[in-house]
Amino acid sequence: MGSRIDVATFLTRARSRFGDRYDYSGIVYRSFRSPIRIRCREHPVAEIVITPERHLETMGGCRYCLRDHRFRAR
Ligand SMILES: [Zn+2]
Repeated sequence: MGSRIDVATFLTRARSRFGDRYDYSGIVYRSFRSPIRIRCREHPVAEIVITPERHLETMGGCRYCLRDHRFRAR
């Protein structure tokens, strides 16, 4: 279960996980498993299309952040 996550809950979780890293101003939220379009504020070169579920499970979907994260983890 846990699929009934509305946009307010998603944004609360996303901001507690990522702070101000991603820009959610342009999202059209349909469901937790429907892709949304977001943008990384640090790497705004490409729009990120990702489901809210994946966004919260991963580094957020920005491949540049992911690369930085991996680099720091070494
Ligand atoms: Zn990024």
